[in-house]
Order: sequence, then structure tokens, then C-alpha cells
Amino acid sequence: MSYEKEKKVALEAAISAARLCEQVRRETAFEALEKGDGTPVTLADFGSQAVICRAIAEAFPDDQIVAEEDAAGLRGPDMTERLEKITGYVRGILPEAFEESVIDWINLGRGQVGSRFWAIDPIDGTKGFLRGDQYAVALALIEEGEVRLGVLACPVLLVDPGEANGEKGVLFVGVLGQGAAVSPLHGGSFKAIHVAEGSESMDLPFVESFESSHSDHVLQKEVAESLGSQAPLLRVDGQPKYGIVARGEALAYIRFPLSPGGYAEKIWDHAAGKIIVEEAGGRVTDMHGHALDFLQIPEMIKNEGIVAGNIRIHTKVLETLKAMKQP
Ligand code: AMP
Ligand code: MG
Repeated sequence: MSYEKEKKVALEAAISAARLCEQVRRETAFEALEKGDGTPVTLADFGSQAVICRAIAEAFPDDQIVAEEDAAGLRGPDMTERLEKITGYVRGILPEAFEESVIDWINLGRGQVGSRFWAIDPIDGTKGFLRGDQYAVALALIEEGEVRLGVLACPVLLVDPGEANGEKGVLFVGVLGQGAAVSPLHGGSFKAIHVAEGSESMDLPFVESFESSHSDHVLQKEVAESLGSQAPLLRVDGQPKYGIVARGEALAYIRFPLSPGGYAEKIWDHAAGKIIVEEAGGRVTDMHGHALDFLQIPEMIKNEGIVAGNIRIHTKVLETLKAMKQP
């Protein structure tokens, strides 16, 4: 399958959703609600999810969608104003939107795992979004347990990492068997990308989460240093990390849990990034070398941690971790 239509729909949805997110960022004080699990959610998370789910459901009415947010939290009298604001933003993309349809579109994301489904993170790295830092809009299509297509819109990422004051906004896409590519988010052509080559000097950094409560910064530094990395680890929120690895700006993305068995990764935080790095010539597994299992939704209970990078570095990271465990 070529996935041409899926790619077109996913790219357009990601671009629209990213536009909504950036508009929210420009116009509202960063107003966040706390979810049951203690993580934040904003007007933009809900608006982005509504736009993406609506686009997928319209193009592929039989597809299941598994998305991070749930509209249950938007019901009730004290939420009226918030829902109106979200609807206003969604209307900027979809003029036919009204409050009830926005709720329905958000809830399209409560689908089930099946032989074909989409995994969506409307804002991956909400903490980064709130801080004015990196975040991504992430869409992945999974068939028979395998990621076939991934799209990441990264509105804050530099188009040219060498130009600190240059244009921001990058779109990544990866399709199984077709490679990975990048384009400016605000228009331009796609060009193929590749992970850093295996023989390069170790002056490229490793990349890790910005948030110190999301992964083990101490162990990650130890592993990077024991591999001879000369650069300090780059700290980035959300799946832009995968994009950074895929375009050869970092050797690998490493994510080790703070307490073993403590936090299970979510499929929407890794599915799109995984195929983009792999189609850029890299390898992505958990920290034990196990394939990521996207069929246990939403939590990847069979996996622990993440290692994503060029194949040589990926192997070395796994070997280093194993050696550290030896008494
Ligand atoms: P990152 O910036 O790479 O850490 O990715 C952000 C994602 O981390 C969010 O979308 C959350 O799903 C996830 N997350 C939230 N809390 C934790 C935690 N305690 N440990 C690991 N990941 C988390
Ligand atoms: Mg996320």
C-alpha cells in the first residue's frame, strides 16, 4: 500500500492542529487544567484533538482512533466558558463547529485497538507548550500492530538547526518502506532525512526529556559519557526528540525510567516518532532491546524506557546498559 491518502490527510490535519495550537499560545494566558494523573491539559490540547479526529473520521470513517484527551472533563456548568473558547478556536479551522460537535469530535478519540487504528497526541509535551518550549502534534497509523505512517508537526523547532534566529516550524513524515522526510511547517518542499551515520565523531549530543521527573537524567548522562559523548545532553520536550534524531542532529534519544516498573509509556508518545527515526535509517526499541508494543493501549506495559538512534549507537547503548547491570 502506498498510504498516499493517509499521508495527505495526516499532514493536513497536523498542519491545521499546529496552527490552532500556536494561535492559542499567542492569544491566551497559558491556562492549564490538571488531569486525573496530575499532567496538564490546555484549550489547545482539546482543540487540536477535535480538528485531527474530525479530519480522520471524515476521510476514513471505518478507522478507529485512540487519542490522549477525553471530553468528559469539559462537561458541567463551570466548563461552559472553556468549551466556548475551544469551539471558537476549532471554528477558525472548521467553520461548521459548534460546542456539541466539538465534544463529539474529541470523543472520536476513544476508539479501540484493532487491525487498523490511529494513535494521536494532540499536543505531545504539554509542559513544553506551557513553558513556551518544544512540543509536537503527533499522528500515527498502526496496522496489524505495526506503525505504517507517522507525522510530527513541531511548531517551535528550527527549520535549520544551525540558524538560531531562523524560521521555526518543522513537519516530519515517515511511511513504512518509503523513508522519512522533512519540510518547513509553513510551506516548502519535503526532503529526505537520515540519522547520523555510524562512524561520526562523538561530538553530537544525545537527546533526553526536558522534564527531570519523566526520565532518569543521571543514568542517561552516565550512559552518554561512558559511550564517549563529548556534548552535554540536549533536553527537549515531547517527540521533537525523535525528529532531532531522524535528521541527524543527535546521536540518539535515550529515556530510562526513574523507578523500574513505575511509569508505563503511552503509545501516542512514541508511535509517530518511532517510524520517522526508523525510516530515517535508525532503530527504536525499549531499553532492553524489545520491540515497542503498540497493541496494549494506551500503556506500553510490556516495554520499559526508549532507545532511538542510528543502529550502531543503538546497539552500544543497549550493551552499556547491560554491562552496568552486571555486578
Ligand atoms: P517528554 O517531554 O518526552 O517527557 O514527553 C512528554 C510526555 O511524557 C507526556 O506526553 C506524558 O505522556 C509523558 N509523561 C508524563 N508523566 C510522565 C512520567 N512521570 N514519566 C514519564 N513520562 C511521563
Ligand atoms: Mg504526550
